[in-house]
Amino acid sequence: MKSVGNDLFIMKGRILIVEDEKDIYELIAYNLKKEGFEVFISADGESALQLIRKEKFNMVILDLMLPVLSGLEICRIIRSNPDTAALPVIMLTAKGEEIDRVLGLEMGADDYITKPFSPRELIARIKAVLRRTGEQPVSERIIDSGDLIINKETYIVTRRGQPLKLSATEFKLLLFLAERKGKILDRDRILDAVWRNEVFVEPRTVDVHIRRLRMQIEEDPDNPRYIKTMRGVGYYFDGK
Ligand code: CA
Repeated sequence: MKSVGNDLFIMKGRILIVEDEKDIYELIAYNLKKEGFEVFISADGESALQLIRKEKFNMVILDLMLPVLSGLEICRIIRSNPDTAALPVIMLTAKGEEIDRVLGLEMGADDYITKPFSPRELIARIKAVLRRTGEQPVSERIIDSGDLIINKETYIVTRRGQPLKLSATEFKLLLFLAERKGKILDRDRILDAVWRNEVFVEPRTVDVHIRRLRMQIEEDPDNPRYIKTMRGVGYYFDGK
């Protein structure tokens, strides 16, 4: 079996399941993972809200009946925070529960599904909501190579969770290499892509910036794990 844990990979999106019943969240998680989603689970509202504040999700699947904070309360808190107001929410309800309120403007779930449901039906709803809300999956903006995470939208690079201070050029250089993982890129190609129309650059410029970049992202710049040299040719990104 092929492991993808440390490879560069693109997920369809990150979904948080908030549900206290193990059988149900396991069933949902299994089916979402099979579809290529990255799955997170919270069994109560408090930890769910903490995760939502800390992480980026493309969607929350929220059970209505939860201990302490109900799904409706959680949904209201999500909607009232400007950072998360647009986060798509699908509510899980039991038959006859307060569906009007679930979908009401005030609470604003994007959709709901009644238990018991088939995984296929849930996946279809999720895809429909993601299409409708039109959010680009978070993971497509992020290159995750194990300890090194490159966020293409915020321009933040972290190593083991610690943000690195890269210059704009270093960031462009890193992204260019990382997006072409495993491909050997010669200096001219890197120059064209990263420095574009700048006049006063020469192939040696690439080497200088690679060295600086390694100082930032590599634990041991002389024995790099990510940016490898192909002698006489150029460089390549090794994500393992
Ligand atoms: Ca429940």
